[in-house]
Amino acid sequence: MNKRSDNWALATKLVREGTMRSQFGETSEAMYLTSGYAYDNAEQAAARMAGDEDGYVYSRYGNPTNQMLAERLTALEGAETCRITASGMGAISSAMIAPCSAGDRVVAANALFGSCRHICSTILPRYGVETEFVNGNDLDAWKRALSKPTRLVLIESPSNPLLEAVDIAAVAELAHAAGALLVVDNVFATPILQKPLELGADIAVYSATKHMDGQGRVLLGAILGQSEFIEEHIDPWLRHTGPAASPFNAWVVLKGLETLDLRVRQACSNAAQIADAIADHPNIQAVRYPGRSDHPDYAVHKKQMAAGGTLIAFSVKGARAEAFKVLNSLELVDISNNLGDTKSLACHPCSTTHRALSEEEQAEMGLDESWIRLSVGLEDAGDLSADLLQALSAL
Ligand SMILES: *Cc1c(COP(=O)(O)O)cnc(C)c1O
Repeated sequence: MNKRSDNWALATKLVREGTMRSQFGETSEAMYLTSGYAYDNAEQAAARMAGDEDGYVYSRYGNPTNQMLAERLTALEGAETCRITASGMGAISSAMIAPCSAGDRVVAANALFGSCRHICSTILPRYGVETEFVNGNDLDAWKRALSKPTRLVLIESPSNPLLEAVDIAAVAELAHAAGALLVVDNVFATPILQKPLELGADIAVYSATKHMDGQGRVLLGAILGQSEFIEEHIDPWLRHTGPAASPFNAWVVLKGLETLDLRVRQACSNAAQIADAIADHPNIQAVRYPGRSDHPDYAVHKKQMAAGGTLIAFSVKGARAEAFKVLNSLELVDISNNLGDTKSLACHPCSTTHRALSEEEQAEMGLDESWIRLSVGLEDAGDLSADLLQALSAL
């Protein structure tokens, strides 16, 4: 029998929820590396394929290891159900494309992960879906954009890279009044710090590649929401287009979830210390950390996020040359566009993650060449602060 209780606290669910023991009684979750399944007889094969009998038929449709992960994520998020995908973009592209038809309208926040923005700006319009971008922290802009019937709204909070806040509850209300479903990319906040579905969102999407694995090993994604929506729109899309997750990768993320709460809380504590340590350095122009009261969106972050998160953005005095000099002077922190890892990673968004945006689009987001994004990991906070301070002093 698998142990299960609706009363378990988060830390218990992260370790236990969804575990499905085989007849061998293994303590760790089993990895079912199989593409297909055999049946007892032809009648059973027919019943399974017709959906009249529960059970697995093919790993593009479902797999026991993937199912364990989906159940653990469902409990963690407080959702009705979950589907996992080969990558975060597999989840987000499915959630955005599957429910839309030609003639539909999508409204999205300006500041999005690059590939999410590409789906809205370039892919959806090619199939006759009109998209409009608004500044995520401007509620009047949301009101104007959502005064017309809309199918989907996509936001990220905190946003990439300047960690702006979108008021999830307020945008959910406006989206629903426009007949739209609100999709929240909750990667930066993690389900430990922010619960989009409780705040009124309809669908939460994740790159589990980030904090959930959190150790730089595998790609994986997840879509969470109501069963009716997932079964009607997401299941046929996933089955017939095939962004199925590898059971090996799902197993790695299951093990990652066991320590997610510990890792995220420690990384948040490190990030808060580092943000304070660098804020007054003479070569710093601005620090944006959602947990600091000088963040322009501090009030909204505080309302919907339990801590400041694991990412910091800072602007150095100067432009590209000065930002590059600081990055190149780092001795402990790596230069990488990845994030949510145990290893601290820094990047220059204008020339890497956000280089596809025009200068005007970057300026609209408040982004310029002086900004560096730092993903804080689990090294000692004192060592990390010392590395950043020596790199800033190299200017
Ligand atoms: C990384 C990331 C994605 C994409 O996830 P992959 O697993 O790399 O496909 C989407 N949104 C955000 C905010 C991300 O950080």
